[in-house]
Amino acid sequence: MKVLYVEDEKYLADAVIYLLKKSSIAVDWVDNGEEAVDLAVRGEYDCIVLDIMLPKMSGWDVLYTLRKRNIAVPIIMLSALAEVDDKVKALDSGADDYLAKPFKTTELIARIRALTRRPPVIVAKELTYGDLAYDLNKRTLNQLVLTAKESALIELFLRQPEHLHSKERILLRVWGNDPNTSESYVEVYMSYLRRKLKLLRSKVKIMTVRGLGYKLTIQE
Ligand code: CA
Repeated sequence: MKVLYVEDEKYLADAVIYLLKKSSIAVDWVDNGEEAVDLAVRGEYDCIVLDIMLPKMSGWDVLYTLRKRNIAVPIIMLSALAEVDDKVKALDSGADDYLAKPFKTTELIARIRALTRRPPVIVAKELTYGDLAYDLNKRTLNQLVLTAKESALIELFLRQPEHLHSKERILLRVWGNDPNTSESYVEVYMSYLRRKLKLLRSKVKIMTVRGLGYKLTIQE
């Protein structure tokens, strides 16, 4: 097992590395966020132990960068601030665990072992519902290529099928804060998307809930 340990406080790092190695865990140590990203993207690690307060690039930025690049390695965040907010933020941001400083190295080792025993996190590449399968990388719906807006729309629906999406919400999620858009865009694109579903002979329909919005349902 090999761990990437990112910690700028050398005296602390030395002590932790000594104990990790004693527990038969191989360690690469770096003292800043930039080098951490460079090494982590190679995908050689079973786990990353990541301090939050780091020079050059914070632990948060390292975490965001890695997750954005689909690096699914388990990450344990370390923070000197034993605040609940930080813990929630870490887990919400895609970290797998969180440990407040000061911690016992035995506790860290236990967490590393627990995380590396788990099957690796699988980053979703496909969203499915009924007879539909949307490929997030290729932007295809059952092999049919969608435009950027159609893709954004179907992704929104497939992430929460049978959930009612208001026009305002759809507009905000798909068009952002663009001031040149209006709710009529939503209606137009909804008709494009319906045409594609028809073309696919899908049993999945976009239902209009009058005055409220749209939702995806399966019509038998
Ligand atoms: Ca630090």
